[in-house]
Amino acid sequence: MRRVYLDNAATTMVRPEVVEAMLPYFSEFYGNPSSLHSYARDAYRGLDEARKTVAEALNCRSEEIIFTGGGSEGDNMVLRGIAHAYRKKGRHIITSAVEHHAVLHTLQAMEREGIAEVSYLPVDEYGLVTAGQVLEAIRPDTVLVSIMFANNEVGTIMPVEEIGAVCREKGVLFHTDAVQAVGHIPVDVQRMNIDLLTLAAHKFHGPKGVGALYVKKGVRLPAFIVGGGQERNKRAGTENVPGIVGLAKALSLQMEHMEENAQRMLCLRDKLIVGIKSSIPDVKLNGHPKLRLPNNVNYSIRFIEGESILLMLDLNGIAASSGSACTSGSLDPSHVLLSMGLTHEVAHGSLRLTMSEFTTEDEIDYVLEVLPPIIQRLRDMSPLYKKGEE
Ligand SMILES: *Cc1c(COP(=O)(O)O)cnc(C)c1O
Repeated sequence: MRRVYLDNAATTMVRPEVVEAMLPYFSEFYGNPSSLHSYARDAYRGLDEARKTVAEALNCRSEEIIFTGGGSEGDNMVLRGIAHAYRKKGRHIITSAVEHHAVLHTLQAMEREGIAEVSYLPVDEYGLVTAGQVLEAIRPDTVLVSIMFANNEVGTIMPVEEIGAVCREKGVLFHTDAVQAVGHIPVDVQRMNIDLLTLAAHKFHGPKGVGALYVKKGVRLPAFIVGGGQERNKRAGTENVPGIVGLAKALSLQMEHMEENAQRMLCLRDKLIVGIKSSIPDVKLNGHPKLRLPNNVNYSIRFIEGESILLMLDLNGIAASSGSACTSGSLDPSHVLLSMGLTHEVAHGSLRLTMSEFTTEDEIDYVLEVLPPIIQRLRDMSPLYKKGEE
C-alpha cells in the first residue's frame, strides 16, 4: 500500500547523510571525549565541530551551546534553572497560552511547588502574542519571558524579534522554544535579542533524544543534571557523541538548503490549503494565513472528530495528526485551538498535515484525492452533521 508521511511536526525522517555521518562515532570514534587518549580526541573533535556548526547556525559563540537530551529537556532546564538562579529578583514568569506542554506543564508544576508565579498571555484568533502584551505583563519581579518561536500545532510564527527587543529594554531574560523553527526558518539569537533558546534534532531530520540549548554568555544557568563536568558543568553525563554529530550534520544541511526547501514546501502547503478549502465545505484554516511555518496545514473540519479522520487516513496510508502527538492520545481538544477561541466541537475536528522537503507534489495530490470522500463518508454517519444541516 502507498504510504505518505505528513506528520513532520511530530518527528522527521533522519536523512541518509546524517546516518552516514553518525556511524563512525559508534564503531570507530567511540572514545569518551573526557578521556586522555587518541580515541577520546577523535570523539572530542566530533563534539567540538558540532558545537561550532550549531553556533554558526544560530549566530552565537560555541561556548554558548550546551547539548541536551532534546526539546523537552531543554525547556525544563531553562524554566527550572532560571527560576532558581534568579529567585532573589523574583518568581514571576511570562509565557503564552499556546506553548508546548514541555513548557506549560513544567510551569504548572512550578506553580504548584510555589517556586513560580506565571502569567499565561492569551493569544488572538491566529495564535499570536504581541510584544505589547509582553511589555504590559512585565513586572519588577519578572525573571523570565518564555514565548515559543513557532507553534507546533498551527504553525503560527510569533513576533520573536519584537518580543526580544522589549525584554532587552526591560532587562528581563528571554527564552524561546524554537524547536519548530530552527533549521526551517531564519533564527538569529543576536539580532532577535534571545538569551536562551531550545532546539531538538529530530524536528529537522536529525536523530531523536538529542538537542541543544543556547545560553547567552553571562546568563546564570545552574546544573540540571549533576555528576561529571560535561557541558560546562550544566548537564553532566557522557556526551551522546553520535547523536550530537548527527544533530550538527542535519542542521548544516538544513541551513544550506533552507531558502529553496522553504519555497518548495510553501507551494505544496498552499496547494493543500487551497485544495482542501475548495473541495470540502465547512472547514476553517487554523493559524495565521501568512505568519506561518512553510510546512504546516491545520484545518478544523466541522461535524466530525479529528481522531476518526486520522483512522481513515491511516487506512489509506496517510500519516497525519489531530494536533500535537501528546494530546492525540486523550479526548481533550487541543489547548492551542481552544486558546485561539475555537469551540470544543470545532477544536475536536482538527487535522494537522505537516510536510518536509521529502514531500512530493504527487503525495499532496493523493491526499487531495483521498480526503474529500473520507470527510463525506464520516459526515454522512455523523449525527452532528445532520443537526448542523437542519
Ligand atoms: C517537539 C517539540 C518539543 C519537544 O521536543 P522533544 O525533543 O520531543 O522533547 C518542544 N517544543 C516544541 C515546540 C516541539 O515541537
